Amino acid sequence: MSEALLPPAPGTQKHLSIDLVNSVIHLPGGRIVDELDSPEETTSWLKERELVDEDATLQSYCQNRLSGLRADLREAFSSCAAGQSFDPQILDRLNKALTAAPHIPLLRYSPDTGFHRSTEHPVTRLVEYAMSVIAEDAAALLASEESALLAQCEAEPCQRFLLRTHGRRQWCSTRCGDRVRAARAYARKREKALKSSA
Ligand SMILES: [Zn+2]
Repeated sequence: MSEALLPPAPGTQKHLSIDLVNSVIHLPGGRIVDELDSPEETTSWLKERELVDEDATLQSYCQNRLSGLRADLREAFSSCAAGQSFDPQILDRLNKALTAAPHIPLLRYSPDTGFHRSTEHPVTRLVEYAMSVIAEDAAALLASEESALLAQCEAEPCQRFLLRTHGRRQWCSTRCGDRVRAARAYARKREKALKSSA
């Protein structure tokens, strides 16, 4: 759904945790689009990312838990991007999500194909598994050097996170960049007009 509204922010395709945080979009005019708005939408979101099996059906309990993880990750990303201190209670919750279900791919063997690795998609605790995979991605990102590239889009009202691809990129998409430039041009014009009328 977000793809139709805005292209994915840089880093979204590489990091499930950025993808999750950006699953709620604030649009100009006060409109908010939440891709986890119902258990059905939450299920589709997880299926599109192969975090649950095709026949999975999630309940509102699962939707709430994933939304909760999203809120915690948003706090973690904000504190990382702004270099501010971080609530240890949220850290506890992220570590609980990280260890809520095993997400480490097991070693498999078949005589035809040899060794390979794949994760076991549990039939129960579906949302716990998805949360642990996303929390693992977030933990790896936040504790790596890549975390220095994490930034929040500066175009109002957009709050999407991104990984800066070059130098000082401050917005998530050309559309947000254009909006900032237009607003700056308008402000300059207004300032000029005020000065000339004074
Ligand atoms: Zn943006």
